[in-house]
Amino acid sequence: MVDVLYIEIVSNMAVPKKKHTKSRRNKRRRNIFLKAPVLTICPKCGKPVLPHTVCFNCGYYKGGEVIDVLKKLTKKEKKLKEKEIAGKEKEEEKEEKSAKKPLSWEELSKSR
Ligand SMILES: [Zn+2]
Repeated sequence: MVDVLYIEIVSNMAVPKKKHTKSRRNKRRRNIFLKAPVLTICPKCGKPVLPHTVCFNCGYYKGGEVIDVLKKLTKKEKKLKEKEIAGKEKEEEKEEKSAKKPLSWEELSKSR
C-alpha cells in the first residue's frame, strides 16, 4: 500500500516579471563596499584612534587616564609598554622644540 501525499505549496512570494539586467544589478551593488574608518592620532601615544574613543594603547581620553592599561600585563610587557609611551612623549618634546624656533634667513642659507 502506497499512500501518496499531495502537498500543495501555496506561495505568497512576489515573482519577478522580467529579468534585471547586469547593468541594473551592478548599479545596485556599486554602493556595497567597505569604507576605511576615520581615525585621529592619540595625543598621548601617537597611535591612530577612533574619534571620541578611549585610546586602547595608553588608556587615555581627553587628557586623563580612563583605563589602566598596565594592570593586566606581566612585568616584561609593562616595561616595554612604559618605554613605548615614554618614547612617544620624548619625540613630541623634540618636535615642539624644533617647531618653536622657526629658521631665520641666515640659517636657511647656511643649510644649503
Ligand atoms: Zn594613546
